[in-house]
Amino acid sequence: MDTKQDQKAWICGGAAHCESPPKTNGLPNRLVLLGAPGVGKGTQAELLCTNLGTCHLSTGDVFRAAKGLDSAERTPALTAALDYMRRGDLVPDETVLAVVAERVGCLRCEGGFLLDGFPRTVAQAEALAELLAKEKLKLDAVLSYELPLEQVVSRLSGRRTCSKCKAVFHVKALPPKMAGVCDHCGGKLYQREDDQPESIRVRMEAYERSTTPLTDFYRRRNLLLSIPADGSPEQIFKRTLDALKVAS
Ligand SMILES: [Zn+2]
Repeated sequence: MDTKQDQKAWICGGAAHCESPPKTNGLPNRLVLLGAPGVGKGTQAELLCTNLGTCHLSTGDVFRAAKGLDSAERTPALTAALDYMRRGDLVPDETVLAVVAERVGCLRCEGGFLLDGFPRTVAQAEALAELLAKEKLKLDAVLSYELPLEQVVSRLSGRRTCSKCKAVFHVKALPPKMAGVCDHCGGKLYQREDDQPESIRVRMEAYERSTTPLTDFYRRRNLLLSIPADGSPEQIFKRTLDALKVAS
């Protein structure tokens, strides 16, 4: 599924998307996606969209896309969210929720939804539950992609960036033809500060600390499906479908 189209659907209220009939294969399709950066959550979101016909509602993608819009094209909540981001502040819960609430048409879509990047906190999860209850909708499941810290470190620390054209390679998954040299422009490859094992560990620990209350919240409500995120994208996707079948 085309991500640009998804962003447009989200920003314009869902109308752009609903021409393609949702696939009625009986699997749970009102979902929240959780997973640390580097676990391959984005790839799984794409596979879920293609296979279930579910709209991918990624708040991160929406904020990125909204930056490129004229202010007249932005909804009030998106404008407010971007103002916080421009000041370098965290977007507060009520603003994030307002962005989601503006897209309630997407949440109502028969094809279901795939929330990504929201909720991030227990307060947001409670607000989402309220919003869905008001719409007489039910969240079906929360997919939590899990990978041991050291595997995330080894995945992310293999990234190499071209110092000239900024192309990204990976020593194992996407090696350049010649070690340390960019395939595209011949520039020198280097490891970004963010991709150093120590910075990855610090980010991952922060992610764990902030996400544990959220996974606990959904586990207590019997909504959490933990998916081991090792192996190929296809293997992980098969586990996802198996977990959804059991939950349906
Ligand atoms: Zn290059």
